[in-house]
Amino acid sequence: MKTWIPEARNFAYLTWKQVDALPRATTLLVLPTAAIEQHGHHLPLATDTLINNLLLGKALERVPADLPIYALPPVCYGKSNEHIGFPGTLSVSAQTFLAVVRDLGASIAAAGFRKVVLYNTHGGNSSLVDVLARDLRAEFGLQTYSLFGSAGASFDGVSAQERTYGFHAGEIETAFLLHAAPELVQVDQYTSNYIARVDKPELLKPEGSSANFAWLTKDIAPSGVLGDPSPATAGNGERWSDEAAERIAEILVAMYNFEPRHGA
Ligand SMILES: [Zn+2]
Repeated sequence: MKTWIPEARNFAYLTWKQVDALPRATTLLVLPTAAIEQHGHHLPLATDTLINNLLLGKALERVPADLPIYALPPVCYGKSNEHIGFPGTLSVSAQTFLAVVRDLGASIAAAGFRKVVLYNTHGGNSSLVDVLARDLRAEFGLQTYSLFGSAGASFDGVSAQERTYGFHAGEIETAFLLHAAPELVQVDQYTSNYIARVDKPELLKPEGSSANFAWLTKDIAPSGVLGDPSPATAGNGERWSDEAAERIAEILVAMYNFEPRHGA
């Protein structure tokens, strides 16, 4: 798998003696969670994993060199059963995902570390990451943080329709890959589908509202794309990934410095 993580920030490149010498109480370990799943006709299965690595790698280049913040190898396999029926989707169950990340949390705590970030770039994992963040805190005493996607980057220039319903393999993901790994983008294979329209609001929404319908990609998007990749450019991908990386770097430093306050 390609990586943008600076070598000095890659936890798996350390020896155990080097790990043993890290300041356990303050070191911040970032565990990426992503997916290997269909991304339409034009993007690779690893898209969410590559984007996670790209944004985290760029962010780690921006954090102060003296802060002990490390990227763990990613949990590439996620809960991707919304994309069943498309060859190449490799999904694990919610139970398996919870068990794997919980066991990694146990190993991190057993080594004496206190601070872990779950950095997730696959929507299907999000609710499980919320559960895990609380459980790792409660079960192992880990100060656990969760961080999602582009951390609220603004993506200026993206239409309201794409911003709201460009769920998967649309303009933003395509732009990121056109910038970082253009050889993996099949630019003559773009397709477009939308799950809903911002100009035709319905009572039931696909997600994020008080009344949602559960969806499978194959019900809505025969090509596997939920969004429209056609406006994507490498230039926007560079700009947006830099903006996201700035925000993520700032957030990682805040997580590094954070201590919960009693009675605040
Ligand atoms: Zn994706």
